[in-house]
Amino acid sequence: MSASETNEKLRHFYNAFENALEYERHQSDRAPWAESGYSELMAEIGEALPETGLANNEVISELVNKASSGLNATTGGRFFGWVIGASHPAGVAADWLTSIWGQNAGNPQVAPAAAAFEEVVRQWLLALLDLPGECGVGLVTGATMANMTAMAAARSELLKRVGYDVESDGLFGAPEIRVILGDEAHATIYSGLSLLGLGRQRATSVGTDEQGRMDIDALTAVMHSSDVPTLVIAQAGHINTGAFDCFDEIVPLVRAHPNAWLHVDGAFGLWALAVPSLQPLVAGLRDADSWGTDGHKWLQIPYDCGFVIVRNAEAHRRPLQATASYLPICDEQRDPSHYVPELSRRARGFAAWAVFKALGRSGIVAMIEKHVAFAKHIERELHEVPGVHVVNDVVLNQVIVSADSEIETQALEEKLKDENHYLLAGAVYKGKRVLRISITGYPTSIDDIDGLVDSIRRIIS
Ligand SMILES: *Cc1c(COP(=O)(O)O)cnc(C)c1O
Repeated sequence: MSASETNEKLRHFYNAFENALEYERHQSDRAPWAESGYSELMAEIGEALPETGLANNEVISELVNKASSGLNATTGGRFFGWVIGASHPAGVAADWLTSIWGQNAGNPQVAPAAAAFEEVVRQWLLALLDLPGECGVGLVTGATMANMTAMAAARSELLKRVGYDVESDGLFGAPEIRVILGDEAHATIYSGLSLLGLGRQRATSVGTDEQGRMDIDALTAVMHSSDVPTLVIAQAGHINTGAFDCFDEIVPLVRAHPNAWLHVDGAFGLWALAVPSLQPLVAGLRDADSWGTDGHKWLQIPYDCGFVIVRNAEAHRRPLQATASYLPICDEQRDPSHYVPELSRRARGFAAWAVFKALGRSGIVAMIEKHVAFAKHIERELHEVPGVHVVNDVVLNQVIVSADSEIETQALEEKLKDENHYLLAGAVYKGKRVLRISITGYPTSIDDIDGLVDSIRRIIS
């Protein structure tokens, strides 16, 4: 093939690359809310299945033309809606290569590099968080799957301890498992409970304080009320307030119980373990049995990436390990499929490795400390503004605010949306309408933060 023929064959790659760079270059200038919403996009792209194919390069051009107006600027510095990471450039570049390489991360012989990089990521993750080196770690799609996978390990181990093999015999006729969680548990925890047959409604819900932390007296009473195998699900980083459950009080209750397991949903809060100045917040957190966290939120790994961490690696593998005659068995090597529900999947370890490598421990710690400092700065600044109230104790990256009345809070939300210079999302927290400021994007600067505060001050006055 001649050089020009090769270039012609690769044109769609250049097209995608140039468009990607163009997008990246304007990351900070872009208005955070997309121009088009779902319905407008559907009206634009909702055609019948094409009968005939289109040239690769035209497909890419059409994709860019039709998708661009519907992209929220989640990777920009003025995006404070929900807890969404900004996809670190080193991770994004590694992710491009991951697609080109097309590795199936399910098995160390099918994809040796994918398995090896995941093993290094496992070791680095545990070192960063100062968790035991023998923990099992699975690279899953996100915290939803991380939490569910850990709950499957918990279900297995709690029932094994009472002589029941749930992997073989299923839940019909199984001994009872009690699930205890705070009434502020994340919505996705309930998806895990329903998928695992543990039941959304069956779970015992414990009341929480104004920050969303489990009431320890209520938890104590429930823990003491029964000896049946018990799964306690606590939280590091409440989705609105950023609050952490009081692990140093929860852990002794769990350990005093004859058969209990403590799982922690730390979708974004778990990274506090890495930060020396946040150690008071995480006291006791390392003594849990399992943890779920996201790579794609605060760590800035491109979507999708989450980590499930289980202290007892054997219990971690028990519900998941798939064996088949055609699958090579490698006892000495990491078999990634033994730690996640899937067999075939994306080689997430490459992008995760790239972000760890690009930031290093000090870069990760500095980023988290910076975001926490920004959140506290907003809290201080808004404290001086009449008509705006910071609703939560700012301990992490989350600030929730309200105005004097529900209507004024809503008006503030709408005005900010109309101006489309800063993206904030609304929510109802403990019956109160609030605006959520989530600071999780690495490109966010102090100018972005001050600009947001100025906008709120101007709109509310
Ligand atoms: C985001 C989040 C989840 C769910 O994580 P996904 O990555 O969306 O699957 C669970 N718990 C908490 C506290 C979260 O913030």
